[in-house]
Amino acid sequence: MTISVPDIRIPADLLPADGRFGSGPAKVREEAVADLAAAPSFLGTSHRRPAVKAVVRNIREGLADLFGLPADYEVLLGNGGATAFWDAAALGLIERKSQHLSFGVFSAKFAAAVAGAPHLEAPEIIVSEYGTHPLPIPSAGVDTYALTHNETTTGVRMEIRRPDAPGLVVVDATSAAGALRVDPAEFDVYYFSPQKAFGSDGGLWVAACSGAAVDRIERIGATDRYVPAFLSLEVALENSRQFQTYNTPALATLFLLDHQIEWIRSMGGLEWAASRADRNAAALYEWAGRSDFAFPFVGEPGDRSPVTATIDFDPGVPAPVVASVLRANGIVDTESYRKLGRNQLRIGLWPAIETADVEALTRSIDFVVERLG
Ligand SMILES: *Cc1c(COP(=O)(O)O)cnc(C)c1O
Repeated sequence: MTISVPDIRIPADLLPADGRFGSGPAKVREEAVADLAAAPSFLGTSHRRPAVKAVVRNIREGLADLFGLPADYEVLLGNGGATAFWDAAALGLIERKSQHLSFGVFSAKFAAAVAGAPHLEAPEIIVSEYGTHPLPIPSAGVDTYALTHNETTTGVRMEIRRPDAPGLVVVDATSAAGALRVDPAEFDVYYFSPQKAFGSDGGLWVAACSGAAVDRIERIGATDRYVPAFLSLEVALENSRQFQTYNTPALATLFLLDHQIEWIRSMGGLEWAASRADRNAAALYEWAGRSDFAFPFVGEPGDRSPVTATIDFDPGVPAPVVASVLRANGIVDTESYRKLGRNQLRIGLWPAIETADVEALTRSIDFVVERLG
């Protein structure tokens, strides 16, 4: 579908200083990119070098500190992003049967990946309507509960709580890690890609794993289940302990991830990052509350994401046109997730985004909508 973009120029004094409001890859801080550019020969030499291993060590230790991980938790990393981790989990984390909460495109994809695995029993999949989330249901025979901290596609977040049942709690935290509060006692695996709240680039997965999760990885690794080395969590565990990945990682991604972890820690840690996202979310949702054309898509206020806000527009205000005008004015990636098919903007509110820029965004939207008439 092509839409014609009306020629509306937003005055410079209304515009945000940084126009990146995407839901991922999300805003990368300019200071981080500048430090990468200034790092002497970090790029373009061997990834087995001490300088790179030092970055991987920093990432593992920095995340343990940021999340307040108990002593028996370990940080694993490997190539391929959260999507690769789903396949790795189907092969090396789920013993026989998993339960999935499916409430958006990403959580549904993990469930589908597991449903297709011939060595596992059919998963239990609990579905709820877009804009809501289900809760896990303790179930005999389930050894892995798959939760999603923030469904990026719908803008729904949920509290991470262990169901009252044995089994590992495995959480897709791709758009939550580094921006939402979490208690490590409530999860066994908290995995993510770093191109969202961690303001880095894609291609990598990172997973904070409890002692029980590490035991599970080692136990499955000792069976005769066929696991390709690239997707083996046991191989990832061995390599992570040596501060490296199984094969060559994107060095810039590691550098930017490490930079962001250090930045968040220096600003006051996860509580600071979560508070920044909360302030950004308050600015946006309060604007929607005052507006006569914008409404939060997620009905339950406690379920509204503080990092990926989905805002429906009145049918008389075409959100795709608004997003296109914003883009023409340098405010990018506010389009809704296309498979949702709603008259909606989706707005990233990551800790790297200044609250003043969110306020400027709301004024810019108002300016555009007034002129659309
Ligand atoms: C972005 C995202 C993914 C996919 O991440 P990739 O790095 O593209 O594999 C998975 N889950 C959630 C919740 C996401 O936001």
